[in-house]
Amino acid sequence: MTSPDYGIRGIGMTSARTRERLVRRLEEQGIRSQDVLAQIRNVPRHLFVDEALASRAYEDTALPIGHGQTISQPYIVAKMTEAVLAHLGNDRRVLEIGTGCGYQSAILAPHVKEIYTVERIPELLRKTRQRLRDLDIYNVRFRLGDGWQGWPKYAPYDAILVAAAAPSVPVKLLEQLGESGCLILPVGPTGRQELSLVTRGPDGFEQRSLGAVSFVPLVQG
Ligand code: SAH
Repeated sequence: MTSPDYGIRGIGMTSARTRERLVRRLEEQGIRSQDVLAQIRNVPRHLFVDEALASRAYEDTALPIGHGQTISQPYIVAKMTEAVLAHLGNDRRVLEIGTGCGYQSAILAPHVKEIYTVERIPELLRKTRQRLRDLDIYNVRFRLGDGWQGWPKYAPYDAILVAAAAPSVPVKLLEQLGESGCLILPVGPTGRQELSLVTRGPDGFEQRSLGAVSFVPLVQG
C-alpha cells in the first residue's frame, strides 16, 4: 500500500489498514461510486480532527471538531457526495454550506471544477483553509458568512450541498440552484431529520427523501 505518510506518529500503518476497513464498511452499506470510495481511502481523515481523537478518525462516526460542531460521519459524506456526483457532469461548480473542518470538501474536490464553501465560525474557517492548502487542494473558495443566504455572487450552482440541518429548505438556496441542478440537505428538527434531495427540472422543484440522518443545526443568522 502506498498511501502518503502525513506524519502523525504511531498511526501511519494503522491508518492505512483502518482506512481500508472503513472503505469496505461503506461498500457494504451500499456506497457504489468508485470515485467516492477511492477518495475516502485517500483523504487522511485523522488530520481533520484533534490529535487526541486521531485514533478514532476511521470509525464510521461523527466526531467533535470544537465550537460545538462535528465532522460528519463518513457514510453520510460518501452518500451525499455520491448523490451529487450522480447528478453532475464533469467540470461543475458546487456550493457547500457548513465548511466545518473541510472533510466533505476534500472528498468532493477532485471531482468538481470549483467548490464555494460558506462557514459562520471564523476560527474553523481559518484552520480549514490552511488544512486544505496543506493537502494541496486548491479548488475551494471560502466565505465567512450565513449559509441561509447562500453565496449569490457565484450563482447559479450545479449542485448545493448543506452540512447542517434546516427546519425547512432555505429559499435563497433554491434561487441559487441552476437549471437541472440538485440540492442535498438535511431537513427537520433534531431527532427527526431527513436527508432530502431537491432537483430542479423544467416543471419546477422535486423533493425526495434519502433516509433519516442526524446533523448539527443550520444556525439562523
Ligand atoms: N462539512 C463538515 C461538517 C460540518 S458540521 C464535514 O465535512 O465534516 C456543520 C457546519 O455548519 C459547522 O461547522 C457549523 O458551524 C456550520 N454552520 C451552521 N450553521 C451555519 C450557517 N447558518 N451558515 C454557515 N455555516 C453554518
